Amino acid sequence: MTTDCIFCNIVNGKTETEFLFENESLVVFKDINPHAPVHLLVVPKKHIRSINDLEISDDTIVSSLISAGKHMANEVGIAASGYKLVFNVERGGGQMIFHLHLHLLGGWK
Ligand code: AMP
Ligand code: ZN
Repeated sequence: MTTDCIFCNIVNGKTETEFLFENESLVVFKDINPHAPVHLLVVPKKHIRSINDLEISDDTIVSSLISAGKHMANEVGIAASGYKLVFNVERGGGQMIFHLHLHLLGGWK
């Protein structure tokens, strides 16, 4: 079903977005407007609006996002040089898409 949530539509395969990684709980794809040489988004399949909406039962989702960020940093070769894992939270925190996601940023010289 197509929804108003762009990331739900990506997760559900309603767009052309290529997944660099996928498991039972999340997908990883390139940010369409990169802010670093490497800029990936780690997105849970479950629709959660923001960090503010997390419940205790979502703890495993959050840890899986971080693990996937670490895994992808290794995969794309930026683990040793270093990277950022960032959650923007609500409008004041720079969040523009209200479906939880973790930014993986790196690859600077
Ligand atoms: P945030 O500001 O934390 O909500 O980040 C949302 C991110 O999603 C931004 O960096 C956008 O460039 C990115 N974005 C928006 N639409 C798409 C899309 N269709 N595919 C990939 N990335 C997207
Ligand atoms: Zn969503």
